[in-house]
Amino acid sequence: MKEKCGVVGVSLKNGGTDQAALITYYALYALQHRGQESTGIATYDDKIYIDKGMGLVSDVFNKVRLKELKGSMGIGHVRYSTEGASKIENSQPLLIGYKNGAIAIAHNGHLVNYRELRAELEAEGRIFITDSDTEVIAHLLVKELLVSDFIEAIRSLMQRIIGSYSLTLLFDGMVVAVRDPLGIKPLCIGKMDGGYIISSESAAIDTVGGTLLRDVCPGELVILKDGQIESHRICRSQNTAHCFFEFTYFARPDSIVDGLLVYDVRRRIGEILVEEHDLNADIVCPVPDSGVTFAIGYSIRSGIRYIEGLMKNRYIGRTFIMPAQEMREIAVRLKLNAIRANVAGKRVALIDDSIVRGTTSKRIVDIVRSAGAKEIHMRIGCPPVISPCYFGIDMATRAELIAAHKSVEGIALVVGADSLGYVSIDGLVKSIGIPKENLCLGCITGKYPIEIPGEECIRKQLRLAQF
Ligand code: SF4
Repeated sequence: MKEKCGVVGVSLKNGGTDQAALITYYALYALQHRGQESTGIATYDDKIYIDKGMGLVSDVFNKVRLKELKGSMGIGHVRYSTEGASKIENSQPLLIGYKNGAIAIAHNGHLVNYRELRAELEAEGRIFITDSDTEVIAHLLVKELLVSDFIEAIRSLMQRIIGSYSLTLLFDGMVVAVRDPLGIKPLCIGKMDGGYIISSESAAIDTVGGTLLRDVCPGELVILKDGQIESHRICRSQNTAHCFFEFTYFARPDSIVDGLLVYDVRRRIGEILVEEHDLNADIVCPVPDSGVTFAIGYSIRSGIRYIEGLMKNRYIGRTFIMPAQEMREIAVRLKLNAIRANVAGKRVALIDDSIVRGTTSKRIVDIVRSAGAKEIHMRIGCPPVISPCYFGIDMATRAELIAAHKSVEGIALVVGADSLGYVSIDGLVKSIGIPKENLCLGCITGKYPIEIPGEECIRKQLRLAQF
C-alpha cells in the first residue's frame, strides 16, 4: 500500500526569525513514513522562498539549503504520489503566482472530481505545469481570489472540490490550514514556544517540542498570523468520514489522531482479535513493525507469551517502493529474517496489520515455516480489504485485492497459514471508538462516503456539509 502525504505549517511570533524552515524540516522528518518520494519546504519573508527535491527529507535538505529558506513562516510536504506521476514537477509545495501575489500549497488527499475541474479550467485557458490535483486546487483558489476576499475564496473553493484534502498554504504573510468537510485526512494544531504548528500527525508536534492543542475540525479554516491563531468554520457536516486506516496502518502509533492515541486503538484491536479468534498457540509474534502493537494487545488478552520471531533489516526501504511483483518478493526476504530459536517447533500466532495482495503475507509465512514453526495462525488487525480507495491511498486495483476474490479460508490457503482470522468490522469500529457513521470504511465495505461512479455510496446516511 502506498501511503498518503504529510503536510506541515509553521508560524512563529518573532517577525524576522529564520527558524521556520528548520522547524518544518524536523516536522517533516517525523512525518517521513507518510511519503518518501519527494519533499519540499516553502517559507515566507516578504516573498516566498521554496526548495524541493526527490527522495527523503535527509536526501534533499542540508544546512546550506535550509539557510536559503528565510522567514518566520513555512509550510512543508512529504509526498507519495496519488494523482500525478512521481517526478519533480509534481513535488510539493506547489508555488503559483498570480497578478496580486503568490501562493504556496501543500496537499494531503485526493480530489475525486479532479478531472472535471481540470477540464473546466483548461477550457478557460488556464495552463497546468503538473498533472497533480493540487494544481487544480491552486488554480481554483486564484480564480476566486480575483473576485473575493481570502475567506470567501476558501469557502467557494471548498464548495467546488470534492474528495479528501488536508491543506497547508502560505499566502500574503499567513500560514493557512484547511481540512475537508468530512475530515477524511488527519490534521492537527500544536503550540510551540513562540508560535504554532499545523501537522498531519501530532508526533511531528511532539518532535519539535510543541504541545498538541486540538485537531483541525472537518470543514475548518485556520489562519496563523503574527503568532495568533484564527479559526473559521467554513462548513459543517452532520457526519465525518475519518479514514480508519490511519488508526490501523498509516499514522504513527505515538500520534493522536482525531483525539485518539493510535497505539491504544491498535492494542485494543489485538485484544478483540483474541475475543473473535482465540486459539491454542505457544507464542505471539508480530510482523515487524506493522504488527507489533496489535500483537502486544493479543498477548495481554490471551496470556500467550509475546516474543519476536522475525527481525527486520532497518536499512531496507519499504517493499512497495519496488514496482515489480518479483522485486517485492525479493525485498521481503531482504527485509525480514526469522529468529529460528524462537519459532522452531512452536505453534505461532503471527500478527500483522493488513493483507492487501497476499504476496507479502505468503513470503512471511514461508520464512517462519522454513525456520521450523509447527503451526502458523495469522491474525490481522484490519478487516479484509475488498475495494480500492478513491481518497488518496494507492492500495491496489480491485483485481489485485486478494479479499475481493477469495474467502478467508481461500486466503489462508494462498498465504500458507494453518488458520487466518481478521478483526471484524464491528470489532474494528469498537476498538477505534468513533461511531461507524463517522468513519470512512469504503475499502472494507465497498460503500463510500462520497459518490464515486460505479460504486455504492452511503451519502444518503451522511448528511452533507452545509456551507
Ligand atoms: S477507502 Fe479506505 S483507505 Fe481510503 S479513505 Fe476510506 S478507509 Fe481510508
